Amino acid sequence: MKIKFLGTAAAEGWPAVFCNCENCKKAASLGGKNIRTRSQILVNDDLLIDLPPDTYLHKLAHGLDLSKVSVLLVTHSHMDHFYPMELSMRGCAYAHGMKSGKLRVFSDERVREGFLLAHRFEKFADGVYRALEWNILRPFERAETENYEIYALKARHAPSEKAMFYLIRQGDKAFMQCNDTGYLYEENFEFLDGLGIGIDVIALDCTNGKLTFGKEGSHMGVAECEELVGRMRKSRFVKKNTRFFVTHFSHNGAMTHDELERRFAPLGVEVAYDGCEAEW
Ligand SMILES: [Zn+2]
Ligand SMILES: [Zn+2]
Ligand SMILES: [Zn+2]
Repeated sequence: MKIKFLGTAAAEGWPAVFCNCENCKKAASLGGKNIRTRSQILVNDDLLIDLPPDTYLHKLAHGLDLSKVSVLLVTHSHMDHFYPMELSMRGCAYAHGMKSGKLRVFSDERVREGFLLAHRFEKFADGVYRALEWNILRPFERAETENYEIYALKARHAPSEKAMFYLIRQGDKAFMQCNDTGYLYEENFEFLDGLGIGIDVIALDCTNGKLTFGKEGSHMGVAECEELVGRMRKSRFVKKNTRFFVTHFSHNGAMTHDELERRFAPLGVEVAYDGCEAEW
């Protein structure tokens, strides 16, 4: 199993699209791992988590063949995770030689609504529309695709919808993506402990960097991540060699990539950057 972090920023990107703050200027001048696009993760080469407006940029930057993607998991409807109009380019005159004809999309109701709004605004070609198979998931439901078992978990985020994060299992390997959630609800620990799956790689939300909004916030920062990693390491779903990553960073969190690495090193937590990969 392999994951690639295609984008590791919060909604505004970093440097942020319209921003002129010191943190954005610093990121721009340092370059490299400090340049972060909107959040997206590719699992192997056929499953995408989220569809941000930077998807096309990710294809160019990493030379991806997105025609292979047969499963799309959408965490929630925020613009940095779901840009539905992009789907209108998936087939007919806009995309030839598709390696996966059908795209199975999994999301909550609101994301599906967003897609239907986009379709009403600028009608998708019939063939493109028909190639999208939409599946509504709710927290703690399980779905199965040809290559994966998917478990939806309950995010502390976007209260106007049922935002989710996902555990993805392939054979005896598993990856859990936990971005765009605040500190995990207790129900998630209970559910995950009950599943009996040992997770190999876990990615955590670290939007707030050095800022902290406590355990009730809808994102985490360094302090919450440190506490959560400690808590997870005592749980049944984390193994001795489970790898932890932090991702989804905002300019307001004000920590450069190097500063984040120095802070997380003692805990053995890795700091994701655009293009960062893990394989196991
Ligand atoms: Zn986000
Ligand atoms: Zn900024
Ligand atoms: Zn969000």
